[in-house]
Amino acid sequence: MSGTTLIRKEVLLKIAANSKVEIMNNFESPSKTFGSNTFDDKVMREMLPKDVYNKLRDTIKKGQKLDLSIANAVAHAMKEWAMSKGVSHYTHWFQPQTGSTAEKHDAFLEYDENSVIERFRGSQLVQGEPDASSFPSGGARTTFEARGYTMWDPSSPAFIMEGPRGGILCIPSVFISYTGEALDKKTPLLRSMDTISKSALKILKLFGNNTATRVLTTIGTEQEYFLIDKAFYALRPDLMITGRTLIGAKPPKGQQMEDHYFGSIKERVLDFMQDAEAELYKLGVPAKTRHNEVAPHQYEIAPIFAEANVGADRNHIIMEVLKKTANRHGLALLLHEKPFAGVNGSGKHNNWSIADSEGNNLLDPGDTPEENLQFLVFLTAVLRAVYKHSSLLRMSIASSSNDHRLGANEAPPAIISVFLGEQLSKILNDIKEGKPSNATKQFIIDLGIDKLPSIMRDYTDRNRTSPFAFTGQKFEFRAIGSSASVSMANTVLSAAVADSLDLLHDEINDKVKGGMEFNAAVLQVIKKHIIETEPIRFEGNNYSEEWAKEAEKRGLPNIKRSAYAFDALKDKNNVEMLTRQGVFKPSEIEGRYNIKVEQYITSLEIEVETLNNLLKTHIIPCVISFKSQLLENIRNVKELGTTLPKDSAEPEMSILKKLNENLQLVIAGLSKLESSLAKASALNDHSKKAKFFADNIVDIMDEIRKPCDALEMIVPDDLWTLPKYEEMLFIM
Ligand code: ADP
Ligand code: MG
Repeated sequence: MSGTTLIRKEVLLKIAANSKVEIMNNFESPSKTFGSNTFDDKVMREMLPKDVYNKLRDTIKKGQKLDLSIANAVAHAMKEWAMSKGVSHYTHWFQPQTGSTAEKHDAFLEYDENSVIERFRGSQLVQGEPDASSFPSGGARTTFEARGYTMWDPSSPAFIMEGPRGGILCIPSVFISYTGEALDKKTPLLRSMDTISKSALKILKLFGNNTATRVLTTIGTEQEYFLIDKAFYALRPDLMITGRTLIGAKPPKGQQMEDHYFGSIKERVLDFMQDAEAELYKLGVPAKTRHNEVAPHQYEIAPIFAEANVGADRNHIIMEVLKKTANRHGLALLLHEKPFAGVNGSGKHNNWSIADSEGNNLLDPGDTPEENLQFLVFLTAVLRAVYKHSSLLRMSIASSSNDHRLGANEAPPAIISVFLGEQLSKILNDIKEGKPSNATKQFIIDLGIDKLPSIMRDYTDRNRTSPFAFTGQKFEFRAIGSSASVSMANTVLSAAVADSLDLLHDEINDKVKGGMEFNAAVLQVIKKHIIETEPIRFEGNNYSEEWAKEAEKRGLPNIKRSAYAFDALKDKNNVEMLTRQGVFKPSEIEGRYNIKVEQYITSLEIEVETLNNLLKTHIIPCVISFKSQLLENIRNVKELGTTLPKDSAEPEMSILKKLNENLQLVIAGLSKLESSLAKASALNDHSKKAKFFADNIVDIMDEIRKPCDALEMIVPDDLWTLPKYEEMLFIM
């Protein structure tokens, strides 16, 4: 048959023949190579003059700006170190609002008289000036005023990304406009870390802790992803262009057997993972856990947690290294939230906590009654933050791709709620009812203070269905998409918690000033907010329909399509909180709103066009080929006439009928899609346009998919040009 058909078959045979793995056994223990490609403390100590080193160390520890007087010395040392590792170029590595990272390479190259030398100046280390006009700003800048600056974030170590002919020195940076507006995702994240630090320190002071100098936000991101053979990827334009399969019939065996989760890892995949981890170790990324996920060919990697900005950088590094390594291994890495319909999608669990500069986790109940009480203040602040600003959290995970996963019975729904576990819920209920907790044996710590409950330390309670769960010493925000940057989610979360900590602080302080005993004042304030925030707490199955109904009764929003979630950035309470906390300026919030809406529309437009092309150049021609085969058969039967039994063409006729029915549905769907698109493009208001896409076009695409997938089950396998689910998900 046609050439394309042959390609798919050839690819299948080739993959089957090539999937052998060479055993190399050249493993290096992580401790030997860890951080060898990072300009870390050890290198700095070795390479910098002592006074410069001390100043830089101070800058990093206190989260301050770099003292320009030492920049030249630091830049020189960095260059020498990088060149000793075969590096010729550097880049300010930053996170524009496109969702990925950006880099523009510059050589350490300068003219000195008539010869060329390698030089890297302090000013180049500290500040770069990329042409910012091509990065989204959401209207914050006009093109003629396109200057933007990247500035080194010294608290995240510079690193070398290895390349085929030498590496690139990457300098983690922020990206701001000429007028000082944040054009990136990192600047607001850093601001949120500062503000929560200040607010948390005030609470610590209330409790008599005067030694802590800073409070750190910590995050650990569990990254899910799919791997498929690159040859399949190359044959699926939808995967290549949109990241997901826009059509594809479900295989007879998907994940029903539940035999993939924590299953033994295939050698080809293990080879990939070990290779990627080796590179991550060199980059100072402490990759700790790897396992098979629920869906076939779905996996997870999780590093040990770090400070939020470093953790966010590392998550970007992880995604980049996985992508590069997959490519080297003839594999395609799929980071989309839902590459395969009907099969589990991928997310990114964001474990979040706060710790003081002495290393005490502030979401750890602690060992003494005072620590327990302090823990309850932080816990209540988180509850209030989520309760008051759940719409911001929903916004922070919003994208057209994550819409396919949220609420699709393997991921938390779009309803934001908090899971605390039985013990903690009981304690909060006791406080609410003002009764002393009758300490059972399960409560390990007896508080001994009258009226105060005891808190169990070791949390084994798990509720995998909750979008925001307390998992002992940390909260786990599970609704972030696998392809997303974690910056926005952590920024709004930390800002909202800081805002609640401020309020709790002031309320406690007022009561104490009014003469109330400290513990009593704290309890009274906590009690008020426990009652206030009760609707946000949910301990049951978040995937169930009953929860959706119950949540509605409680007045919790259930925003299924992201086009509506962006509105949180227009909400007065949210804007006031974010600006009060100094995390965003109003113009920056507006810019982000515009960018998110535009990105939503654009990604759907791309999907529509890709679907259109797939249907017209793959599906419809395949169906027509089969149709002509059938018609020829029918004609042959008719020509033979009476020599054959009367109903000889009946089977062909009935297949033809089904074929036609589905084909007509596809074509009708296409024209519906076209007329809807025309309506959409007539809308000038981009917010209305995004909502129009959400309310109309997304559903039409789903509708078209049904007859397509039915056709895939009717058309002969050797006529079907696109790799099928069972091939992509089971052959490697
Ligand atoms: P799970 O059962 O969800 O897999 P793990 O204990 O494996 O939980 O932790 C998952 C992630 O949470 C890891 O990245 C881990 O480093 C991170 N984590 C642990 N403690 C903290 C913390 N205090 N702050 C932020 N992240 C943390
Ligand atoms: Mg987890």
